[in-house]
Amino acid sequence: PRTQALLGELILLDRVDSTNAQILARLEKGRGHGAVMFAEQQTAGRGRRGRSWASPFGGGINFSIGWQFNGGVQLLEGLSLAVGVALTRALAEFGVPDIRLKWPNDVWCRGRKLAGVLLELSGDLTDRCAVVVGVGLNVGLPEASSENIDQPWIDLNRVHPGIGRNDLAASLLNQLLPLLETYPVEGFAAYREAWQQLDQFSGRSVRIVSARQEWTGVDRGVDDTGALILEADGGVKRFYGGEVSLREA
Ligand code: ATP
Repeated sequence: PRTQALLGELILLDRVDSTNAQILARLEKGRGHGAVMFAEQQTAGRGRRGRSWASPFGGGINFSIGWQFNGGVQLLEGLSLAVGVALTRALAEFGVPDIRLKWPNDVWCRGRKLAGVLLELSGDLTDRCAVVVGVGLNVGLPEASSENIDQPWIDLNRVHPGIGRNDLAASLLNQLLPLLETYPVEGFAAYREAWQQLDQFSGRSVRIVSARQEWTGVDRGVDDTGALILEADGGVKRFYGGEVSLREA
């Protein structure tokens, strides 16, 4: 019932360029608060930093939510990690095993990427900011899609077949809309412990990769803003989502 109260426009499409792009355009016109768009297929599904998200017809649950916050962008600190926690809670309702999180915002299963999250911002970011929360979850992704995916991925049907797509979509919204409502008050503090319990890489040797540079060290989890703590050469360095990617060393 809470979800119904929070839900704005609900848009279900066969095909679209990118659900994030569509919701972002609505937010930029001052509409789109609470809007949710699902698409069976994205012809230009987006990843972070210009990368693409493979979402062929019938290959997954792809959707975006628009949300307007009264306050600056600092309200959103750690939000992408909290969204990851919310996705794991929805999957847990169906008993999906072996679910982990990879910083900053991927859902992993058995050492492979099961779902991705992409947050995009709009608004002046000082007094008001709006965010698009985009989610792509592999359910029925054809093997042939591997050609376009340059890292190990996995499909929900292989891990836990038989979950009703509509049931799962509803659970995802039941987790995410209330999260967006309460996040400005709760912040990442309310999610940090849950996140760390699901952290795939904490304590392991990792590489942090940016467009120009690479760092190696031991992953020491996240701080209370959601920044990744890397221990290297006797010191610690913090990384913020959006700039870099985490890889196994
Ligand atoms: P990184 O992969 O660098 O850690 P990220 O995981 O946040 O960052 P995103 O930008 O969220 O990556 O997603 C884009 C990347 O995800 C692509 O470059 C590709 O490697 C991979 N990818 C694309 N489509 C899929 C998919 N359907 N399932 C799993 N992985 C995918």
